[in-house]
Amino acid sequence: MRLVLVGPPGAGKGTQAEFIAEHFRIPKISTGDIFRANVSGGTELGRAAKKYMDAGDLVPDEVTNAMVRDRLAEADAVDGFLLDGFPRNVAQAAVLDGILDAIGSTLSVVLDLDVDHDEVVRRLSGRRTCKNCGHVWHLEFDPPSTENVCDKCGGELYHRDDDHPETVRHRLEVYAEQTAPLVEFYAERAQLVVINALGTVEDVTERAIDTLTPFAG
Ligand code: AMP
Repeated sequence: MRLVLVGPPGAGKGTQAEFIAEHFRIPKISTGDIFRANVSGGTELGRAAKKYMDAGDLVPDEVTNAMVRDRLAEADAVDGFLLDGFPRNVAQAAVLDGILDAIGSTLSVVLDLDVDHDEVVRRLSGRRTCKNCGHVWHLEFDPPSTENVCDKCGGELYHRDDDHPETVRHRLEVYAEQTAPLVEFYAERAQLVVINALGTVEDVTERAIDTLTPFAG
C-alpha cells in the first residue's frame, strides 16, 4: 500500500501513522520527524530547515522534495509506504506523482484525518514529544507515567517550539492556505478518504484501519 496521511497539525497524524504503518507492515516516513532528527543532529539539512520549522512555515520545496526522493529510493519503501506530512502542498504532490510514475506506480489512497480547529489547539498545547524516539504523549489524553520521561524508551520529553500557541496559529494558517487545496486536489482525483479524527486514539486507529483495508494490496 502506498498511503499518504493528511490533516491539520494536531489531527493525530503522527500517532495514527505509527499504528497504521505497523498494522499494514509498511515503513512510516514522516518528513517532520526526519527534519527534527536532522535539527537535533546538527546536519546541514537540519540547519537549512530549522528557521522555517521554528516559525511554523513550510521548509522550501526543493529541500523537502530532495529529502523525500532520497528516502523513497531506500529499499524498505519499494513495496509500499505511509507518508506522514508529505505532500503539504500541490507542488509537492506533483513531485510525488513524478517519483511514483518513474517506477510505474501510483498512490493507493490518501487518508484525511478530519478534526475541528478548537480541538486542534487543545491537542497541540498539551502535546509532549520524546527527544529520543519521537513518540508523542499528551498531558491530558495520554500522559507518560513519569513526568517528562518517555515510557517507551526512557527519553526526555519536550514541548516542541512550534507547538506554542502563536506558532500553532500560524501553522493552522499555513495549513489552510497551502495544504487544504491539496486535500481538494486529491478529492477531485477520487483518491481521498476522510475519517472523523475525534475520539480515543484506539477508536480513530480502528476507523482508519477499517477504511484503509480495502486499499491494501
Ligand atoms: P510536522 O511534524 O509534520 O508537523 O512538521 C513539522 C515542521 O516540519 C513543519 O511545520 C514544517 O516546518 C516542516 N515540514 C514537515 N513536512 C514538511 C513538508 N512536506 N514540506 C515543508 N515543510 C515540512
